[in-house]
Amino acid sequence: MTQEKMNFIDRELQELKDEGLYKDIKTLEGAQGAWVQIKGEKVLNFCSNNYLGFAADSRIKEATKKAIDKYGVGPGAVRTIAGTMTIHKELEEELARFKGVEATLVLQSGFMANLAAIPALADKGDTIISDELNHASIIDGSRLSRANKKVYPHNDMEGLEKVLKETPEGKKLIITDGVFSMDGDIAPLPGIVELAEKYGAMTFVDDAHGEGVVGRDGRGIVDHFNLHGRVDVEVGTFSKALGVMGGVIAGSKKLVEYLVQKARPFTFSSALTVPDTAATLEAVRILSESGELVEKLWDNARYFQEGIKEIGLDTGVTETPITPVMIGEAHQAAEFSKKLLEEKIFAQSIGFPLVPRGKARIRVMISATHSKSDLDFALDKFRKIGKELKLV
Ligand code: PMP
Repeated sequence: MTQEKMNFIDRELQELKDEGLYKDIKTLEGAQGAWVQIKGEKVLNFCSNNYLGFAADSRIKEATKKAIDKYGVGPGAVRTIAGTMTIHKELEEELARFKGVEATLVLQSGFMANLAAIPALADKGDTIISDELNHASIIDGSRLSRANKKVYPHNDMEGLEKVLKETPEGKKLIITDGVFSMDGDIAPLPGIVELAEKYGAMTFVDDAHGEGVVGRDGRGIVDHFNLHGRVDVEVGTFSKALGVMGGVIAGSKKLVEYLVQKARPFTFSSALTVPDTAATLEAVRILSESGELVEKLWDNARYFQEGIKEIGLDTGVTETPITPVMIGEAHQAAEFSKKLLEEKIFAQSIGFPLVPRGKARIRVMISATHSKSDLDFALDKFRKIGKELKLV
C-alpha cells in the first residue's frame, strides 16, 4: 500500500538536502575528550561543550557509581509524586551555594528548564522581550507561554529600551542568553538589568554557555557582572561545562516555590535520573573547590585565539572560549571543515540559517582537556588549509 499521506517527509528531506541543511551525524566510538574516535580514527575534538573535561572525569565517574549503588538509576516518578530523592535536594542546595542564589530547581535538561520557566512567568496579555539571537528553547518556551513576543536587535540596549517603551500594560519579561553560542559574545547584563529596573520588567538569563566558564571559578554570568540579587531568573544546563545532562532554574525561594507548583515539565515529566544528578553534584563540588580547570580553559582559549589571529584569520566578536573562525561563504566553511577532518581535526562549519549569509565559520570549542601540543597541531592545520583555500 502506498503511504501517500507520508510523502511530505520525502519532499521535506529532499529540500533540506538541496539547501545543504541535512544533518550528517557523526558517531563517537568512545568517551568525550580532547581526542575522540570516529570511524576508527582518532580525531582532535573541537566540537564539544565539554569545556572542563567533566564528561569523562574519573572522580565524577566514581561518585556516580556510588550513587547508583545507593539510589539505583531511575527516579520512578515525577518530582511531585515520588521522584524527589535526597540526591536531588543535595544538588539543588549545592547549586544555590555555587551560584549565590536563595534556591534552585533541577529539571531534566536546559531545554526543559526554559520550557518550564517561561510559560510559568508569562501568560496571555504579558510580553516577552527577547534578544534576536536567543536559543531555540527560549523561542519555544515563549511560544508555549501564549504571551506577546517582541524581539530586540542583538545586545542593543537602545533597541531594548525602544521595545520596553512601546510595551503595553501587563507583565514584562526580558530574556537573553548569557553567552551567545555561535559568536561567543556576552550579553550586556548590567544594561539589561538597569532598563528592567527602570521599566518594571523581570529579567531572565539563560547561562548555558556561561556556567563553568565565566565568573569567579565559573560561577556564571551573574557573578561575572556582580549582579547577585538583581537578576530574577537564571536558567542553566548541566550538559556543557558540567559535562552531564540536566537543567536548573535559579533565583529566589519564592520563585522556586512558585515553579514547583506551576512549571509543567516539573509536574508532568519524571525527575532527572540518578546518574545525571550524582554526576552533576560531583562536578559542582569539584568546581566549588577549585577554579584550576576554568583557568586552564581560558589559557587554552587565549592561546588558540591569538594563534588564529597570527595566521591572519578572524575570530569575530568572541569574549569567551567559543572560537568562531570566520570564513565567509557557507560552501567554503564546509570545505574547510572537510579538509580539517582529513587532517584529523573535528571542527564543525556553521552557515546560514544558524548565522547570517556571508558569515559562515568554523566553530572551535576549546576545552581544558586540550594540551598546548594539541592546539599547536591544530593551528598548523588551520594555517595550511587557510593557504590552500586562499583565505590567508
Ligand atoms: N540554552 C542554551 C543557550 C543552549 O545553548 C542550550 C544547548 N544547546 C540549551 C539551552 C539546551 O540545554 P540542554 O542541552 O541541557 O537541553
